[in-house]
Amino acid sequence: MMNQGMVTAAYIIAAILFILSLSGLSKQESARRGNLFGIAGMALAIAATVMGDAVTSYAWLIIMMLIGGAIGAVLAARVQMTQMPELVAILHSFVGLAAVLVGFASYLDPNNQLTGAEHTIHNVEIYLGILIGALTFTGSVVAFGKLNGKIGSKPLMLPHRHLLNIVIGVICLVLLFIFLGSGIGAGTFILIVMTLLAFAFGVHMVMAIGGADMPVVISMLNSYSGWAAAATGFMLSNDLLIVVGALVGSSGAILSYIMCRAMNRKFFSVIMGGFGNAPAASGDDEAVQGEAVGISADEVAQLCKDANSVVIVPGYGMAVAHAQHPVSELTTQLKKQGVDVKFAIHPVAGRMPGHMNVLLAEANVPYDLVLEMDEINDDLGEVDVVIVIGANDIVNPSALDNPNSPIAGMPVLEVWNAKQVIVSKRGMATGYAGVENPLFFKENTRMLFGDAKDSVNAMLSAL
Ligand code: NDP
Repeated sequence: MMNQGMVTAAYIIAAILFILSLSGLSKQESARRGNLFGIAGMALAIAATVMGDAVTSYAWLIIMMLIGGAIGAVLAARVQMTQMPELVAILHSFVGLAAVLVGFASYLDPNNQLTGAEHTIHNVEIYLGILIGALTFTGSVVAFGKLNGKIGSKPLMLPHRHLLNIVIGVICLVLLFIFLGSGIGAGTFILIVMTLLAFAFGVHMVMAIGGADMPVVISMLNSYSGWAAAATGFMLSNDLLIVVGALVGSSGAILSYIMCRAMNRKFFSVIMGGFGNAPAASGDDEAVQGEAVGISADEVAQLCKDANSVVIVPGYGMAVAHAQHPVSELTTQLKKQGVDVKFAIHPVAGRMPGHMNVLLAEANVPYDLVLEMDEINDDLGEVDVVIVIGANDIVNPSALDNPNSPIAGMPVLEVWNAKQVIVSKRGMATGYAGVENPLFFKENTRMLFGDAKDSVNAMLSAL
């Protein structure tokens, strides 16, 4: 229906839309527009691909698109905001699996006429596409399990695990050379062996990463899924897929780097795994000293009324409790009473990059009240009241002062420097990294126990 020239033109427009989408998504104010560009680009890309001359029969295509589209729509409509990170993780796994399947299909394609160097290059593309796709697939499935709690967040430490990884890597490299010299029968067998090895590698890689390093893993798998798509693009000689894969791959890599820097971690030590497994005993003993003192919502409301400045630190618990709307209302009320209210956002608060920003934007909290950790940390000493709403790891002082802590070295919001700290959570449970938090026992800390939404609503009625 469309000739090759038209398809290429459509691909170029789609690629530009994707770039505009990424640049839009980098700022809250333009994120909605960025999303629209992305949707438009993807619609155009699908339409151009379907109408291109590579597609000869529409029946299967339409059936599969309807099934896939329906499953996607139902899942997206049903997913809770707190399950968003898991959804993203499982979607990455689909990209990986698709790359594996396309790789095998491309290898077994009877119409493949390539010879000589082109044939070899094509086979390398297939091999790499399947390799990256396979480890993205199982890695993402494990990440999905770790995020929704089906798999514990503690790192799995197999004996000689680095050696194990290196051996798998070397075998895969050797297999590549044997593969390139093999006929279709032996080649298929080698591809299957390599796929199984890459599956195992993906599982092992993510199982070994624990506690607070998961944010980096999520963005890293995002990056891998991009490279898998790019490799698929090379296999299929589809330029748009190459461009899009490279965009996803590199933006994911940049995000991983930013997350590492924010958490004061080296990328390689994250990949090597094992973080979040320091001997917990010494840290814990120190932490449970003293007693946590409770406070009522009425008293907190009074404290806020009397304060000049209030800083709210949201965390994963705010997402669980869906407390963002009452929190937004609280902000409005306090501002009406002349209190200066700001938000302090830790780069890994919640369960995915930007999690808190999305929730606050959804609840219409003005962007200029929302500050990043680096912008506000040094000023927390001047603040009258900090209200921590469902956050835990990101305000844990032992990250700074206990070298044995599993999260030692991670920058945190130093809320304890404020005159008064209120922590709203249900009980004394630990956060994602599973570490005790000495903040709860500090002299200037008061615990506001209960579901965050109920607590904030109670404060609102007291106000
Ligand atoms: P945490 O997971 O450290 O703590 C959340 C706290 O919220 C819990 O201690 C819990 O305590 C409380 N909570 C749960 N439900 C409710 C509720 N309904 N009402 C009130 N409180 C509630 O969250 P943070 O945001 O502080 O830290 C994020 C953690 O997640 C970090 O360790 C980070 O590394 C990790 N992570 C982050 C990712 C990202 O990209 N942002 C990705 C993957 C992991 P209680 O049960 O007592 O109420």
